Amino acid sequence: MTSFPEIIVNVDELISVNRYEVDEDNAHIELNSQDIDSLDDVEFGKLVRVCPAALYKVDSDGHKSFDYAGCLECGTCRIACEGTIVSKWEQPGPTMGVQYRFG
Ligand code: SF4
Repeated sequence: MTSFPEIIVNVDELISVNRYEVDEDNAHIELNSQDIDSLDDVEFGKLVRVCPAALYKVDSDGHKSFDYAGCLECGTCRIACEGTIVSKWEQPGPTMGVQYRFG
C-alpha cells in the first residue's frame, strides 16, 4: 500500500501575500440591493460557500455582508448568482484589482 505525505495548505496565508488596489469609486461587483440583509438567503448562501476569499459572510446573528476588497477575480460568484442577486460583475479597471504574488 502506498502512503502519501500529508500536505497542509493554509489558504488565508497564501491569499494574504497578494496585493490589492481597490477602486473605491467603482465597485466591480454589485449586488441587487444595498440592503444586503434583504437578499435571498438561499442565493446568498451559495456565495458564502463558493467565494474562495470568503468575502460573502453571514454572522452569528444572521446578518449578511459583502466587501469586494480582496476579490481574487475568479468569477465564481458571477457563475453562481449572476441574474439572481449578483447584478454587476466586471474586471476592475487598469491598475486596479488583485496582483498575485504566487502564480
Ligand atoms: S470573483 Fe471570486 S473572489 Fe471575487 S467575490 Fe466573486 S467568488 Fe469571491
